[in-house]
Amino acid sequence: MKELLTSIAKERIYSSRKVAILTGAGISAESGIPTFRDKDGLWTKISPEEMANFDAFYKNTQIVSEWYQKRREIIEHTLPNAGHFALRELEHLFPSFHIITQNIDGLHQKAGSEKVIELHGNIMRNYCIDCKKYYELDEFESIYEHTENHIPKCNCGGLIRPDVVWFGEQLPRKALEKAFQTAEEADLFFTIGTSAYVRPAADLPIIALQNGAYVIEINPSKTGLTNFTHLHLQGKSGEILPKLLEEISLNLKQ
Ligand code: NAD
Ligand code: ZN
Repeated sequence: MKELLTSIAKERIYSSRKVAILTGAGISAESGIPTFRDKDGLWTKISPEEMANFDAFYKNTQIVSEWYQKRREIIEHTLPNAGHFALRELEHLFPSFHIITQNIDGLHQKAGSEKVIELHGNIMRNYCIDCKKYYELDEFESIYEHTENHIPKCNCGGLIRPDVVWFGEQLPRKALEKAFQTAEEADLFFTIGTSAYVRPAADLPIIALQNGAYVIEINPSKTGLTNFTHLHLQGKSGEILPKLLEEISLNLKQ
């Protein structure tokens, strides 16, 4: 079998102690969750202005809530794929290993990854826009189902919204700080299944590069980042990552 890694890549990987991984919608594509910007992506069917922003939620709460509930139900029944599981295994091979994800599906955690920084929130969590009380999934879904017009409301009367970052909103401060710190300190950085289009997430691989990290991209297509990376592994993450894990663990044992 042809090896994926060049000898320089191997050298850099085996001497790395701090690993950072940036993932985007592409890593969940093989689990059946559509990406945003590919040809079958979500935004080709519906415009983000219509759904993923606070004004839309405030004005058309029922429509937006129902759209999120539909996505939530799909994600609830979705399983991690071979790419997520390979990352879980890789976590054990390095002293420091963090996944920074733009995904809101929680599939890294479902696969067993422990150090996951969620930049754009998680669709399973919800909170009240007035008193900021958080609702776990069971409680939220029971409110949703028993509410007339599917407009979920808190005890205080406030609307309950998904804990995801909408267009025009700030990213959660702690997660963002941790992500920047992780990128700065990394010796090895992977950018996987992201079009590297949405900032500030797209800045992270550049920060890692500027601080001396070896940067590897895994994506079936080229992105705006490809020319800046040290190595582009072209293909689906569910196929490339298990091969990569095998190559890395074989060499580590030798
Ligand atoms: P994007 O849709 O802009 O880009 C997806 C990237 O994945 C593309 O570069 C594409 O070539 C690549 N890709 C497609 N199939 C792949 C595969 N099998 N293996 C590896 N790569 C593959 O997604 P993005 O860069 O994550 O955009 C950011 C926004 O999308 C974020 O705000 C995120 O919250 C949101 N999003 C999340 C989910 C999810 O949680 N699963 C789904 C859709 C969108
Ligand atoms: Zn409230």
